Amino acid sequence: MPGVDAIGNSATDRRLTAARTMLTLADYFMGRDIDHAHELTAELLLNARDTVKRANDLLRLAGRASCPVNSGWRPHAINATIPNASPRSRHLTCQAVDLGDHDGTLDAWCIAHQDALAALGLWLEHPSATPGWCHVQIVPPGSGRRVFMP
Ligand SMILES: [Zn+2]
Repeated sequence: MPGVDAIGNSATDRRLTAARTMLTLADYFMGRDIDHAHELTAELLLNARDTVKRANDLLRLAGRASCPVNSGWRPHAINATIPNASPRSRHLTCQAVDLGDHDGTLDAWCIAHQDALAALGLWLEHPSATPGWCHVQIVPPGSGRRVFMP
C-alpha cells in the first residue's frame, strides 16, 4: 500500500508522531493553567501561544526532535519560590520559556545562529546564566541585546 512504511505507519501517522515531539501549550503550562486558572488572562494565553510557536520554530531550525520544558509559565506565587527569579521575569507574562539543555548544545546553537533568533523574534539569556537550560523570550530585554545577562 502506498505511503505505509515497513512497520505499517502511514505518512499521516508519521506526521502526527513528529508533531507530538514538539512543545504543546500543556507542556508550557505544566498544569498551572488549572491550579492558577484565576491568574491566566486572555492576554497571557495569547502570549503563551506565541512563545510556544516561536520555541517550536527554534527547535525545528536547530534540528531538535524533542525538548523538555524546564520552566514555562510562572504564576506569581510560584515565581516567588524560585531562588534569584526576577519579580519582572518574562515567565510571569508567558513571554519566556526554559528549554531543557543539559549539555548546553542548544545554547551553543543559539549563540552561533543569532540571525535565526532575530528572524524568529527571540532573545536569549546568556548561556553562562543558564546552566542546564536555554532561556528564550519573545520580547527584548531592557538592554535590547539579542543575547543578554539577566
Ligand atoms: Zn527562564
